Amino acid sequence: MDSVALKQFRQSLLNWFRVYQRDLPWRENRDPYRVWVSEIMLQQTRVAAVIPYYQKFLARFPDVKSLAQASQQEVLRLWSGLGYYRRARNLQRAAQQIVAQRRDEFPRTREEVLALSGIGEYTAAAIMSIAFDEPLAVLDGNVARVIARLDALRGDLRQPQRWRNLQLSANQLLAPESPGDWNQAMMELGATVCAPKSPQCLLCPVAQFCEGRKLGIAESLPEKRKKRASVSIQLVSAVLQDASGKCLLLPPPKAATNAKADDHIPSLVASLWHFPTISAPSNHRVALNNLLQQELKIKLTKSNPPVSLNKVRHTVTYRLISVFPFLVRLKRLPKIPGAKRLTLERALALPISNLTRKVALAAVKYRSATKSKI
Ligand code: SF4
Repeated sequence: MDSVALKQFRQSLLNWFRVYQRDLPWRENRDPYRVWVSEIMLQQTRVAAVIPYYQKFLARFPDVKSLAQASQQEVLRLWSGLGYYRRARNLQRAAQQIVAQRRDEFPRTREEVLALSGIGEYTAAAIMSIAFDEPLAVLDGNVARVIARLDALRGDLRQPQRWRNLQLSANQLLAPESPGDWNQAMMELGATVCAPKSPQCLLCPVAQFCEGRKLGIAESLPEKRKKRASVSIQLVSAVLQDASGKCLLLPPPKAATNAKADDHIPSLVASLWHFPTISAPSNHRVALNNLLQQELKIKLTKSNPPVSLNKVRHTVTYRLISVFPFLVRLKRLPKIPGAKRLTLERALALPISNLTRKVALAAVKYRSATKSKI
């Protein structure tokens, strides 16, 4: 694109964005804290799913200080259901870093922003450009797809050299006088008009500059990546219930540590409150016995055998997880440091993953079907 065409291209896209941009809660103003929270929530999560979480989160934590001072449990409770909980932990850790540096305001340089927990190049560029109009171009999946179609680029966009070239293209396209609007306009175009399937080229403000459209190949770009082979994971969870109907939930790792979950159990189970869970690649009853007798030191009686609950399925990117939950009735729950004893209803109100929620709901369903006490 020569300099005249580039100027027209920028103007067309910016004009379109300023008229047609979606009304999103994080666009109310350019407060860096609000931009930051929205960018973290939007990572790998759809806009429609983020909106209610964002509104609740901002209502409870309107600024860096309130987020830094909250308990981790409350932060996770407000994040519960949004997934990828490491994001919430890092967000709070970064807020604490900012407060510990006794700042009254969000850091203003790219280096300072990059030093915060959970912030990489993309998020730093998004915050710095939108909040402070720093000329830093963002490159995410949406922007990469738009550039690939504009330039009729073939091949796997995530291949490292190709991704670096895409970043260079994004840098060249950036409108230096309005970097915040520009980045949002590119992302908005990718999210609404230049969508992954069926790009709406007739409505596109930059159609005249698009090589992919001219060649009639826009819809087939970007070319499909080789999919990572899916992995099946089988787990056994024990819903331990005492005579009063209370169940045992194990705690997430301690705040401010990077403690990893048991290697055999995906972190999405053990990174929040969860039922005792073990990997069970083959025999589920044997795995359950190992969990109960070896790990939890529980002696089972023949009079009250574990009851198999409905199987739970859960998919996280390439991982296809099947959980085989069992209800285990005990006179007394085992004493485990930090564990909670509570009803299933109260368990459902804690910060738990969707997977743990499904296990709890399988137990609730069993209770309704059998009219049992739990
Ligand atoms: Fe995307 Fe079509 Fe616009 Fe090209 S013309 S950028 S393919 S929507």
